[in-house]
Amino acid sequence: MNAIYIDYNGRTACAEHGGAYLKAALQATPNARTIDTPLGDWVRLSAKEAASPGMDCETCDMHKSGHTDYVDPHADTHHDEMSFSMPVF
Ligand SMILES: [Zn+2]
Repeated sequence: MNAIYIDYNGRTACAEHGGAYLKAALQATPNARTIDTPLGDWVRLSAKEAASPGMDCETCDMHKSGHTDYVDPHADTHHDEMSFSMPVF
């Protein structure tokens, strides 16, 4: 089973990478559809939702695409998803 969970900030993670709270909660209730933790609530994606593009675990996806955990703040590549456009006045 490769369930993907999403929190209210839009962060997606697998059970392994959602943090210690999510992991512990899933060990207690592996089939829970919603998981409330002190750091935020997670909702399990349906199989259909999880199959949508971009709905992978962010951490697994990062490793898959060869990125490391460290992102050079001065490197201007591969930041498309994380960069925000500031309004210009
Ligand atoms: Zn993962």
